[in-house]
Amino acid sequence: MDTHAFFREKLLTWFAQNHRPMPWKAENDPYRIWLSEIILQQTRVEQGMPYYLNFIERFPDVTQLANAPEDEVLKAWEGLGYYSRARNLHETAKFISGELKGVFPDSYTAIRALKGVGDYTAAAIASFAFGLPHAVLDGNVYRVLSRFWGIETPTDTPKAKKEFAALAQQLLPSERPGDFNQAIMDLGATVCTPRLPQCTSCLLHPECCAFRLNKTGELPIKSKIRSKRIVFSSTSWSITANKRWCKNAKAKISGATCTSFPCSKQHRYRPTTMKYCNACPGIFLMGNYPPARNLAPYPNRIDKPLPTGGSPQFLAK
Ligand code: SF4
Repeated sequence: MDTHAFFREKLLTWFAQNHRPMPWKAENDPYRIWLSEIILQQTRVEQGMPYYLNFIERFPDVTQLANAPEDEVLKAWEGLGYYSRARNLHETAKFISGELKGVFPDSYTAIRALKGVGDYTAAAIASFAFGLPHAVLDGNVYRVLSRFWGIETPTDTPKAKKEFAALAQQLLPSERPGDFNQAIMDLGATVCTPRLPQCTSCLLHPECCAFRLNKTGELPIKSKIRSKRIVFSSTSWSITANKRWCKNAKAKISGATCTSFPCSKQHRYRPTTMKYCNACPGIFLMGNYPPARNLAPYPNRIDKPLPTGGSPQFLAK
């Protein structure tokens, strides 16, 4: 059996035994699937579930949603945040109810053209509601594919989007594309998790690159560094001439103190913010360079906690 066939077969076998029951999963009503996908766009399943059930009860079909006053729709949405989603939902419901005479579009292109529907949501609706062969690509899919195939392309790049989309599409079976899409997302959410994936109980492990090479902690790779704001408590900070690093600056962040900060040029200035990388503890990025200097953030890895104390101090906020 080739690797593609192995992946497909094991994934669908696992899904048959382990799929997570959700109220929208047994559905093939595109209205309900669309509703669940819009609600879950920036919301966890546990948080979105009661909203979905409430929407279905108050607006059982697209026409009833379209005919509801916007205030009522926004009220039902209250607490979910990102209210543009609710407005787009309402506007799209009016479009389907009016222009399309209440008939939900049944092609990928027409679904993708709906307001508030991106590539992922269009593929999800097309495959779940209409059995169309369009592969979904979300964080879970990136993780499973990256680990199984040992793909090291940073997943937050346009190149990766093309590469992973093409692979997911190749893997998608022409029969049961909706189950396959759901299976890979469920596996990523429950087994091939970001931390501590359950490889030994995963049916894919005999052929999984990350498992065989012990690289589950390294994959998938991201190029962008997430950061949070750090506020300086000092009033000034000077960079010593001809020195690449400012040796006298100190920061106390997450229990470690850094005694050198990066600087790619000789200059003197008063920085007001720094960034601390959440993903890679120990990496600090300079922020708020004088705009004229236009310097790119420059990473500096601190491998071990350094002695605390000294001045100036930079405190995490
Ligand atoms: S074996 Fe481990 S890393 Fe590979 S797909 Fe399964 S859970 Fe993910």
